[in-house]
Amino acid sequence: MEILKFSKSHLDFQERLKTFMDREVVPNIETWEKEKKVPKSVWKKMGENKFLCPSLPAEYGGIGGDFLHSVIVIKELARTNHNGLAAFIHSDIVVPYIESYGSVDLKQKYLPLCVSGDMITAVAMTEPDAGSDLAAMTTTAVEKGDHVVINGAKTFISNGVNCDLAVLAAKDPKEKNPHKAVSLYLVESKTPRFKKGEPLEKMGWKSQDTAELFFNDCMIPKQNRLGKKGAGFKMLMAKLQQERLVCVVSAVFFCENMLEWTIGYLKEKKRGKKLAIHSQAARFALVEMATQAKMARVFMEKLVSEHMKKKDVIIETSMGKYYTTDLVKRTSLRCLELIGDYGSLEECPIARTFRDTRVMSIFAGTNEIMKEIIARFTLS
Ligand SMILES: Cc1cc2nc3c(=O)[nH]c(=O)nc-3n(C[C@H](O)[C@H](O)[C@H](O)COP(=O)(O)OP(=O)(O)OC[C@H]3O[C@@H](n4cnc5c(N)ncnc54)[C@H](O)[C@@H]3O)c2cc1C
Repeated sequence: MEILKFSKSHLDFQERLKTFMDREVVPNIETWEKEKKVPKSVWKKMGENKFLCPSLPAEYGGIGGDFLHSVIVIKELARTNHNGLAAFIHSDIVVPYIESYGSVDLKQKYLPLCVSGDMITAVAMTEPDAGSDLAAMTTTAVEKGDHVVINGAKTFISNGVNCDLAVLAAKDPKEKNPHKAVSLYLVESKTPRFKKGEPLEKMGWKSQDTAELFFNDCMIPKQNRLGKKGAGFKMLMAKLQQERLVCVVSAVFFCENMLEWTIGYLKEKKRGKKLAIHSQAARFALVEMATQAKMARVFMEKLVSEHMKKKDVIIETSMGKYYTTDLVKRTSLRCLELIGDYGSLEECPIARTFRDTRVMSIFAGTNEIMKEIIARFTLS
């Protein structure tokens, strides 16, 4: 039933990545979860091994791969059951802005550093009072001569502490139409008057360094603008399909992993004289979850395949985003119920998945916003 076809070079890439994860990531996750971030040295090793930005061409140091390489990275990261090393945010969500909208100079300057892991990126859109409604953002960018002066604050920014470069959305205060006021800028974190907050204390994604960013008369060169002035919203919209697809892919792999682990556990766990897996209630629950995960997998693979053909599947991707991120939450809860008391211990891997998958229906557009988009395109 698989729709996606992986070549030998994809499978070799996956084998190398698996070995890397087992050696460099899995043994360190507990420490990173406590420290609320992943050391930059691990990002650097990811880069050295060509696991970052795999779809970028050789001229920037990439392997010239495709979105299937990204699917493999998301799959292998899901297998580690943590979300600190959010390489897919860097490779598949942020860097594509630079690749698509950066000038030749910006691409030559930054893309090789993104591939090598010398620069970790973040995208900074959300503000304390502007989440779903990005038009309400108040961070300003005033272009003066050769420079741009930025003032404002962003929050809930993934890779916020580790980032060396942020794609920042900010408004021209003189433009009254909010949809024409937003531009995107590349801001290096070493820029004077760019400050980072501490990692936010989240219920899940604990090793992900989600943080606030502050800009106080922060001055960057005008040439760091991505695309045309005022085209920020259009660029953000154009990149949403891939951003949401990343969430779909990740949610499906988390569902599959949780089921695999729970089935393994119930096959070993005795309840009285019987193994837990022999209870009809458990079997029906597992079969139902496996059916839903399988259907989600087929839909996800179809979306990936269409996306790789450059088709507009924004409606279907929005459907996939709300369905799979709801499914992953339901699956985590039901698995925990089947596991019983052990599921309440920190050492049970599903406990972490349960916490980590909570945010998936919130970021990259909430599930209510997904339904709003689908309704707007299909019902009006
Ligand atoms: C772990 C994590 C990582 C994140 N990473 C990033 C990042 O890297 N960069 C970044 O810019 N942002 C990031 N975000 C922010 C994320 O994109 C926002 O949380 C999201 O857009 C929702 O905004 P909000 O939380 O302010 O919710 P709100 O917009 O305030 O929504 C609150 C509730 O109201 C509902 N609602 C809002 N508007 C409507 C509407 N029109 N119709 C129906 N219901 C509606 C929502 O669905 C939700 O249920 C991250 C968030 C988290 C939790």
